[in-house]
Amino acid sequence: MPPMSQEQFLHALVQQLGEGAVQTGTQVEARFHTDWSGQPPVAPLALVRPRSTEEVVATLRLCHQHRIPVVPQGGLTGLAGAAVPVPGCVALSLERMNTIEEVNARTGLMTVQAGVTLQTVQEAAVAAGMVFGVDLGARGSCQIGGNVSTNAGGNGVLQHGMMREQVLGLEVVLADGTVLPMLRPMLKNNTGYDLKQFFIGAEGTLGVITRVLLRLRPMPQAKATCLVAMPDFDNALAVLQRMQGRFGNSVAAFELMWDNFVQASIQWQKLQAPLAERHPLLALIDVDGKDEASLRDAVEEALGEAMEAGEVVDAVIAQSQTQAKTLWKLREAPAELNTNMHPPINFDVSLPQADIGRFADAMQADFDARWPGHQTLFFGHVGDGNLHVSTNGATVNGECDAVEAALYAQVALFHGSVSAEHGIGLHKKPFLHASRTPQELAAMRAIKAALDPLNLMNPGKVFDL
Ligand code: FAD
Repeated sequence: MPPMSQEQFLHALVQQLGEGAVQTGTQVEARFHTDWSGQPPVAPLALVRPRSTEEVVATLRLCHQHRIPVVPQGGLTGLAGAAVPVPGCVALSLERMNTIEEVNARTGLMTVQAGVTLQTVQEAAVAAGMVFGVDLGARGSCQIGGNVSTNAGGNGVLQHGMMREQVLGLEVVLADGTVLPMLRPMLKNNTGYDLKQFFIGAEGTLGVITRVLLRLRPMPQAKATCLVAMPDFDNALAVLQRMQGRFGNSVAAFELMWDNFVQASIQWQKLQAPLAERHPLLALIDVDGKDEASLRDAVEEALGEAMEAGEVVDAVIAQSQTQAKTLWKLREAPAELNTNMHPPINFDVSLPQADIGRFADAMQADFDARWPGHQTLFFGHVGDGNLHVSTNGATVNGECDAVEAALYAQVALFHGSVSAEHGIGLHKKPFLHASRTPQELAAMRAIKAALDPLNLMNPGKVFDL
């Protein structure tokens, strides 16, 4: 078949998908030009918003035939620039594939189209008397397909693991339109390669996730939330160990916030200070249990022992779910970073857990020396070794590259990872080699070449071929 012109391709796309599903050229709304990462916007050749797997197949077949790159887009809350269009691409938004197909409390499974938001999944799980194991600040906008494609983490990892642990099956469409229907509702299935794992965390570079079979978790009968102040990081770790020793896997969250983060959060969100005095570190701790009153008593007793041991200097235990929500508001400041930092230079690193405090101190000292007066916030899901750092670009003379180089050099010294949960996308591509050996990168490229030989799926993201 002779090659089609761009115009003919777009015409064929509209003919196959219908006008309602396709926007072209200047019609494409600006919100599809970039994501939360702050990467420069790029207008795609066209935007396609399919409603079904069949429509995804039709789009990919056409793009494959005409060698048009495809960039899958979820809720566009990604922080690594992975969903930003590449020039001349079709941006494939899953936002209209937002049906919850089945929720089964008896089996603890839910089947959804990939464009359902995380919050919708959470609410449907609760309505069925269960909970969903992943939670993060962008819950209202991010989509399950995006969460799977980034192997999202968030606040529940300590108890339930990352997104990978919540996925029992996937339906995926490959670059040439081939459908892989891997939606088998069973945990054990040792029949060769577990193919779905390749697509979890692949950032849309191997195929489009169209449907997801999710695992739900039993709903805890009671939950206790407390905010705990510690004098330093080693004592914070001691508190985590104490709580896990006493409550085991019922410790559902352990989110650590350094004082600079707490103060920014209070100021940006106009919150009341939760404790009378400022402290170097605060931890938000959630513990699950059977009965609220006795659980609160047990948490109080554990914190009392921690105070006697000098690990904790102050604490407040929420007396209701409303109070718990107010305490958790303190941790929601990341949603305000783009408004208050110009621009935010965001990091999402993994470190050996015991070293996180020393790493934060080293970064603070290094930045103090190089950029006096800089604003750098430290916070994270420290219970699972994940630290987030955000530096205000306006306070480091806009020297974003130098800030990144300095931080990633320390990550390498501490044998950490340059991305704990946000992925590589475009933003961290130059630093991927710091966390992966040449042999690992070669294996990744071989997988990419096998599944997408024409390099049409989200090209140039994660690594170059
Ligand atoms: P997008 O940003 O649209 O896309 C992300 C990647 O997935 C891209 O590579 C895209 O091509 C690909 N993709 C999307 N949908 C599909 C699909 N159906 N098939 C194939 N590929 C697809 N992340 C965490 O892990 N933990 C946190 O605690 C956390 N907190 C956040 C808080 C805030 C305020 C914000 C703004 C972001 C936060 N994030 C966090 C980052 C972000 O929300 C996650 O990375 C999320 O999983 C991205 O989902 P999305 O639907 O927005 O995906």
